[in-house]
Amino acid sequence: MKMQVAVIGAGASGLAAARHLLESPRGHSVTVFERGDQLGGTWVFTEKTGLDVDGRPVHSSMYRSLETNLPKEVMAFPDYPFPEGEQSYLPAGDVLKYLNAYADHFGLRHCIKFRQHVERVQPRGSVWEVSTTNVDTAEVTTYQFDSVMVCSGHYWKEKRPQLRGSREFRGRQSHAHNYRRPDAYRGRRVLLIGSGPSGMDLALEVASVAQQVILSHHLDKSIGHLFPSNVIEKPDVTSITETGANFRDGTFCEVDDICYCTGYSYSFPFLTPDCGVQVEADEVHPLLMHVVSVERPTLAFIGLPFIVCPFALFDLQSRFFVAVLDGRCSLPDTDTLRRDAEAERRRRREEGIRPHYLGREQVPYLNRLADLAGAQRLPPVVFKLFETVAFRLYEDLANYRRHNFRIVDNETFQEIA
Ligand code: FAD
Repeated sequence: MKMQVAVIGAGASGLAAARHLLESPRGHSVTVFERGDQLGGTWVFTEKTGLDVDGRPVHSSMYRSLETNLPKEVMAFPDYPFPEGEQSYLPAGDVLKYLNAYADHFGLRHCIKFRQHVERVQPRGSVWEVSTTNVDTAEVTTYQFDSVMVCSGHYWKEKRPQLRGSREFRGRQSHAHNYRRPDAYRGRRVLLIGSGPSGMDLALEVASVAQQVILSHHLDKSIGHLFPSNVIEKPDVTSITETGANFRDGTFCEVDDICYCTGYSYSFPFLTPDCGVQVEADEVHPLLMHVVSVERPTLAFIGLPFIVCPFALFDLQSRFFVAVLDGRCSLPDTDTLRRDAEAERRRRREEGIRPHYLGREQVPYLNRLADLAGAQRLPPVVFKLFETVAFRLYEDLANYRRHNFRIVDNETFQEIA
C-alpha cells in the first residue's frame, strides 16, 4: 500500500530516509520537515550559538575548523561515493556539498519543506498527527501521516555532569556545542572536560591560543604526549570552586574558563508521551534494531547508534524500515517484539555495553539490516578501514587527518604515504 510518510529533519539521515521511501516500488508520498533553511543538518556551519533567530536552540555543533574524523572512503553512503580526490579527510564544507549533490542526484529537494519546525507528533488511532510551525510566519499546520521517520539528529542537546560547586564558579562555562573558534580563550587558563572526538579537537585548537589547557578525562591511558606542552592532563573533576577545579587525584587547578565536552543527550521534544517510546538521555526504547518502535511499528528512528559509519548506517536503517513499510520484511507480533527488545536490552546491560553503542557490533548489525532489507551488504573493506582509523586520533591527533587511503577492491585498501 502506498503510504504518506513524514520525515523529520533534512540532515544526512533524513535524506537517506527520503531517498529510500521515494525509491520504494510502493511509491510512497514523502514530506520532509526541516526547521532550517537548507539541508545538511550538523554540516551546516553557523556562527550563532545559544538560541537561533526563531528562539529555538541552535542545532549544529560544528566548529569553524572542523574536518571529518573519518576518511571519505568510510563516510560515504554505500552507493554514492564522494568526488574523486586524494584527500581522505575533508573539510566540513565538502561534506555539505556532498549532501547537496546527493539530494540533487536522487531528486529529493521537491519533498523538503524548509523552515518548518515539528512541534508535535502524536498517534491518533492508526495515523500520526504531525504539527509544525512555520518558522517565519508562526503559522501552525497539522498534517496526518501513516508513518513517521524521526531523523532529527542527536548532537544538539548538551549533556553536562552535575558537578558540585559549578554554580559558584566565577569564570565562563560553556559546552562544546557552542564552540566555534578558539579566539575567546586567548591567553586564558581553560579546563576542558571530556576526551571524545570534540574534546580532543578542542584541546588541540584551544592550546594554540590559551595560556594553559587542563584536559580532564578518564581514558585508561595517558594522552598528554598528543598535545603541546601547555596542555596538562587531569583525571575526573570532583568539584568546582569559585576559581577552579578539584580533581580525583587530590590536586586543584585555578582556571578562567570551563568547557564541557561531555556529549549530548537524545531528545525528541515533539514526541507526545503516547507515542510508545521512552526517550532517556542515553537511550530510546523499546525499539527493534535501534530503529522501529515496538509499540507502534510505523514510527522509526534513523541514526541513533554511535561509533559507526554514520551515513552507511542511515542508508541501511532506512532501507530496512522502508522494507518493513512495504511488507517486504515482516515483523513478528507485538509480544514477540517486546520480548526480543527486552532481551537485547538485558544482554547489553549484562555485557556493560551502552544502549546505542555499536563499535565492533556494527558489522553483524549492518549486515543483518542489509539482509532484512534485501539490500547489498557493505563490502568488508569499509569495515576494515573503519577499524584501522576509528581510534587513530588517540595515536596521532595532530596528524592523523593527513593520512590518505584508496580502496583497491572489496577486501583491500591502500594507505597512501
Ligand atoms: P543532523 O545532521 O543533526 O540533522 C538533523 C536535522 O533535523 C537538522 O537539519 C535539524 O535542523 C532538523 N531538525 C531537528 N529537529 C527538528 C524539528 N523539530 N523540526 C524540523 N526539523 C528538525 N559523522 C561522520 O560521519 N564523520 C565525521 O567526521 C563527523 N564529525 C562530527 C563532528 C561533530 C562536531 C558532530 C556533532 C557530529 C559529527 N559526525 C560525524 C556525526 C554527524 O552528526 C552525522 O554524520 C550526521 O551528519 C548526522 O545526521 P542526522 O541527519 O542524523 O542529524
